[in-house]
Amino acid sequence: MDPDQAGPILPEVFNAGGSGAVVLVCEHASNAIPARYANLGLDDGDLTSHVAWDPGAYDVARAVAGQLDAIFVASRVSRLVYDCNRLPESPDAMPEISEIFEIPGNKELSDAQKRERVENVYLPFKQTLSDVISRAGQLKIMVTVHSFTPVYFGASRDVHIGILHDEDSRFADAMLELSGQFTSLDVRRNEPYGPEDGVTHTLIEHGVRNGLMNVMIEIRNDLLAVEQDRIIISDMLAAWIGAVCDKLGIAGAGKGTACPE
Ligand SMILES: [Zn+2]
Repeated sequence: MDPDQAGPILPEVFNAGGSGAVVLVCEHASNAIPARYANLGLDDGDLTSHVAWDPGAYDVARAVAGQLDAIFVASRVSRLVYDCNRLPESPDAMPEISEIFEIPGNKELSDAQKRERVENVYLPFKQTLSDVISRAGQLKIMVTVHSFTPVYFGASRDVHIGILHDEDSRFADAMLELSGQFTSLDVRRNEPYGPEDGVTHTLIEHGVRNGLMNVMIEIRNDLLAVEQDRIIISDMLAAWIGAVCDKLGIAGAGKGTACPE
């Protein structure tokens, strides 16, 4: 699908026939901005930075999906047009300022302009993910994959990987319990963000409400800057998630072989 066309922009569904119990989600997979939004007034530097998307998250999630034979749903539109991990009424859904970046194309949007983005970006994403979950009866777990900037508002962040959860902490608890077996990185609960920051919308809307155990994984994006590192992190996460499934008694990881392209 051409993201420049007018009208609804459906997310990518990778490995739609996957047999694994995990569904992977990446709301911030893309920095693409449909032509009608004129780059929101941003320059190329802004558009490739973390404010427009989660660098590296798509590649990691897709590789993990391949290893777990998981279905993977990824937005094709920059979160600056609409952040699919936010409710339409959230001020962060179409932010006028993101961290230290002003977003000219989001200033003083009319109700009609906001509604156009909700209808063409958020609702197609939400509906597609809902349809995937209801159609694939084997799903037990939802894992959303994100990356975060090492420096935020000028402050360095030490945490390497955040394991985030809302009211259902079962999968996150088990991941944290087993983390030492899979990585020596600095892994923390609900850092650098947590439910109080409004980042658990997808977990609640599609995980908790459907009875799926769920977790949001945040990876510091300097760990994902080169392909070889993304492969290392993907392999580590796939093994870790698979072990958590085993621990929880879920035959979760599908057939465990690479899925077709
Ligand atoms: Zn994100």
